[in-house]
Amino acid sequence: MSGHAIHSVETIIVDLPLRRVQRFAAIGADATAVVLILVRTDTGLTGVGECCTPSGPWWSGESVESIKLMIDDHIAPHIIGKNVFDVRGIFQTVNRKLFGNAFAKAGVEMALVDLQGKIAGVPAHDLLGGKQRTSMPCSWPLATGDADLEIEEAHSWIEKGMFNLFKLKMGFLPAEDDVERACAIARALEGKASVRADPNESWDEATCKWALPRLADAGIAMIEQPLARWNLAGSARMTRATQAAIMLDESVSSMQDMIEIGKLHAADAVSLKVMKHGGLYASRRIADLALASGVSLYMGTFLECSVGTAASMQLAVTLETLPFGGELSGANLVSEDIATRCARYENFELQLEEGVGLAVEIDDDKVKALRRDRTYSVHPVAAAR
Ligand SMILES: [Mg+2]
Repeated sequence: MSGHAIHSVETIIVDLPLRRVQRFAAIGADATAVVLILVRTDTGLTGVGECCTPSGPWWSGESVESIKLMIDDHIAPHIIGKNVFDVRGIFQTVNRKLFGNAFAKAGVEMALVDLQGKIAGVPAHDLLGGKQRTSMPCSWPLATGDADLEIEEAHSWIEKGMFNLFKLKMGFLPAEDDVERACAIARALEGKASVRADPNESWDEATCKWALPRLADAGIAMIEQPLARWNLAGSARMTRATQAAIMLDESVSSMQDMIEIGKLHAADAVSLKVMKHGGLYASRRIADLALASGVSLYMGTFLECSVGTAASMQLAVTLETLPFGGELSGANLVSEDIATRCARYENFELQLEEGVGLAVEIDDDKVKALRRDRTYSVHPVAAAR
């Protein structure tokens, strides 16, 4: 299998409309953008990767524009000619040249893993430790801010048999109104669905002291990252004091973050995301540290389209336990996609697709139609601001 050297790296920004407006604590958007990464070998094979951000740079400081630039100018020149199986060596080199930028690094690594699978003739999950399951319970985001509409939206997914786990995006309303909204939704869906909440670092500890018990009393099963990402001591206090499970997301990117969370038991669970950890193999290392610390795993998302969703699913099926499932629902949130086959959400679970590498294929016509440099001179979200 040796002799497969990296010949070229191409990056393409693609703008994708969303099914409906998606609100986060910091921003609302009706479109998203992804960076498609195509790594080609001197033997004529192509590996695909995807980077995206949750509608802008508010989460990690990276944007699709910065990701494209970093890959083109600061990653690609250092990896041309390298063996696609030498991921550790490649990223030792890249990390000496480029600090941070985990999302950009993850997109390139994803394409390398796709190539490794294609060369070996095996799915990526075989490279990541082997599959423990063929599907994953998958959460759908409720993120418009209107409780009645959100209850209606949840019921329509339950009726379709697609989603019965729901994550409320919070933090864009005043805390009192937001908690009232969450409790109304949890009570309306009681017995039919599991409801979780994610204020994305919006609250201080004083707010958490009254808000978290109210959310737990209303039946909310898990509360994600209520406090700022740096406040691990506060999160440990909330984990001890709250009936519902506390999950950390923004607080855990690096292995060092995970070690600190484990030492303090600052969470009951952590959200794994391929991009924030810098790739699939790096995510597997974080998962192992979490398991060794007695912290449960959850398969998180930045709402990637089908390529990133397929990659995350390849990792998710290798995870030994997923007590809260995951949330790889981005491929259903975009109303246009760039893969030939859409992700399948059936029986309330995302189904693993069989195939080599990431088991996903790019639709060249769709990429041609949606790539930014062909269709827009200004990003449509930026133009609306
Ligand atoms: Mg989150």
